[in-house]
Amino acid sequence: MNIDEILAFAKSRGLFWQSAEIYGSAAGLYDYGHIGALIKRRFEQVWLSYFIDTNESYHLIEGSNMLPEKPLIASGHAARFNDIIMGCSKCGTYYRADVLLADLGSPVSEGATPDEIDVMVVQKGLKCPKCKAPFLKSKPFNMMLDLYLGPEKSDKGYLRPETAQSSYLNFYREFNILRKALPFGLAIIGRAYRNEISPRQGLYRMRELTQAELQIFFDPNTWKVDMDKVNDRKVTVVTYGKKVTERKTIAELVRDDDIPEFYAYHVAMIDAFYRDVIGVPEDRLRFLEKGGDEKAFYNKVHMDIEVSVDSWGGFKEVGGLHYRGDYDLTSHSKGSMQDLSVNIEDKKVLPNVLELSFGVDRNIWMLIDVFHKKDGDRSFLSLAPYLAPYQAAIFPLQKDERIVGEANSIFNDLRQYFKLCTDQSGSIGRRYARVDEIGVPFGITIDFDTITESSPNYRTVTVRIRDDKKQVRMHVDELREFLDSNTRFNPFNKFTGFK
Ligand SMILES: [Zn+2]
Repeated sequence: MNIDEILAFAKSRGLFWQSAEIYGSAAGLYDYGHIGALIKRRFEQVWLSYFIDTNESYHLIEGSNMLPEKPLIASGHAARFNDIIMGCSKCGTYYRADVLLADLGSPVSEGATPDEIDVMVVQKGLKCPKCKAPFLKSKPFNMMLDLYLGPEKSDKGYLRPETAQSSYLNFYREFNILRKALPFGLAIIGRAYRNEISPRQGLYRMRELTQAELQIFFDPNTWKVDMDKVNDRKVTVVTYGKKVTERKTIAELVRDDDIPEFYAYHVAMIDAFYRDVIGVPEDRLRFLEKGGDEKAFYNKVHMDIEVSVDSWGGFKEVGGLHYRGDYDLTSHSKGSMQDLSVNIEDKKVLPNVLELSFGVDRNIWMLIDVFHKKDGDRSFLSLAPYLAPYQAAIFPLQKDERIVGEANSIFNDLRQYFKLCTDQSGSIGRRYARVDEIGVPFGITIDFDTITESSPNYRTVTVRIRDDKKQVRMHVDELREFLDSNTRFNPFNKFTGFK
């Protein structure tokens, strides 16, 4: 599907649309509808199970979305969380410089300075695309949304620009409450806020977004990961040095590309998440290493996690793996004037941070793009059953009172264990089509045989499988076990033999 088709699909099937649409919508703000909210929650739950529940040293916390000014001065966001903007001297339109220059065929690197951009604008004679007037000097624009607390609005604060800061701010207390050992992980799934300039990229660039982030605090001198588990796993990487797409093993990544073992281990873990858990095909996933001025200066190793989507015509970032050194705890030690180093076996250690960062909204868009399939006239969302909004749909074949009664009884029994939907209107074909489109993996149909004692199929139902339309006849008493083994995500089962 192209972008417009995805937006139309999302709107008409209850996934997402622009906020306040009855007032004409607001750029970069989206609401999730009843199906979108279910899929988003599923993605978050699977993410948590996979990355957090499998490690007893990793914990979920929640931080305030509003933060006072001081920590964001210390983290560098107040001074440096900027995009460069270009304003038109005549019509007053502002553009994000890197986006506009790319659109105009003169791309600059992510770290380009206003001066470099101005030189480029003069050299190429670039003009405002709307009115053809010259640009004013470009300048940095801080993307944080500020706020003022209290009746006199005297206390300046910000909506947090990333969830990560809440983990750094809580590290010291949590470390001391918990195991007092490294590595130690704090995860947050929550909102972050960015005053994006003219955001027009659907769920890929939003002013209010959901992040799922895990910050792993560790001592680089002592963290040993189990490389035997990952050495042979093949991943697709584009390293900063070579800038070519390579398919290579984790062992080769460590040996040939100078990637630390703990970092490469998590490349494998994320690769397994996307390929084995989410089901992204091998040729659609890659790790793109950033270097030089493309990456934040404090990152020692930085890879974007990218999935190729048809709607955007290629690879698009869905997350990142960042080795941030000790930048975060050093900054907050200075800013708060509290020593955030910890005692490990009578030695003072200021932990380093490895950040696993995922944009949840981007991943939802990606799921629709990658898993929306067409089969003749039929379209279906081929989501892994544990990512589907409902695990099964219950259909009475006809409006016969006894069939409907039996369908209701099965529905009420199974809904104690699974998220189910039911649909009693229209032909069975039409009903299958409706649940196919939103990704429901199993349709359970109750017919005359189900309620006819003399039938050899008494107390059996038809289970129809979404992707191949295959139908199997099953005893009512087998449904619970069937759905349980086919729809429940267990991070310790075959999907993550990795762990
Ligand atoms: Zn203009």
